[in-house]
Amino acid sequence: QAVIVAIDGPSGTGKSSTSKAVAAKLGLSYLDTGAQYRAITWWMVSNDIDITDPSAIAAVAGKPEIVSGTDPAEPTITVDGTDVAGPIRTQEVTSKVSAVSAVPEVRARITELQRALAASAPAGIVVEGRDIGTTVLPDADLKIFLTASPEARAARRSGELKGADINATREALVKRDEADSSRKTSPLAKADDAVEVDTSDLTLEQVIECVVTLVEE
Ligand code: C5P
Repeated sequence: QAVIVAIDGPSGTGKSSTSKAVAAKLGLSYLDTGAQYRAITWWMVSNDIDITDPSAIAAVAGKPEIVSGTDPAEPTITVDGTDVAGPIRTQEVTSKVSAVSAVPEVRARITELQRALAASAPAGIVVEGRDIGTTVLPDADLKIFLTASPEARAARRSGELKGADINATREALVKRDEADSSRKTSPLAKADDAVEVDTSDLTLEQVIECVVTLVEE
């Protein structure tokens, strides 16, 4: 029986590191749904689509072919066959992804890809995102909602970005969370039956251990 684990929460909570490690430990597949939204955003930017115009985004939402490799040891993401793992992490894509991912046609398209990947994972899958437990996989066997203080999140993100200004990083994070939480279609939200884990004062190892224990229960 395949096991489906949904891990949601804002960025900087350790979601990706935790999800990848839990999947590797348990022999499950791994899907980073944020990378999919970043990939479609990268395609919109590369093709000069006016991202301030939701109808322009909706009109071409079906065009790019987005393929995710779900091995937790080496997750991959391509758009029309091009490896975009690097380009999807730029500040430009990061600042535009909330606007693109708020468009219902974009969400419908990406959600379909996510459900197909979850259904075909041989042993099961850990899927990380913002709306996995509420919308994409409401029947998941385990739902986790990771949180952390804005300070802890900004500190982790600045560490990742090496030398980035911590105040600017915190402001950008808070702004993106607000946009993701206030959109009309499947906003960032904790499912009623999700287990909330505050990671502010936990090490990555402690968070991984906590989630693995919950899966095995
Ligand atoms: O997780 P990450 O920070 O890479 O996500 C990038 C963006 O993708 C989020 O800010 C959000 O706008 C969007 N996203 C989403 N739904 C998901 C995952 C990500 O809308 N399930």
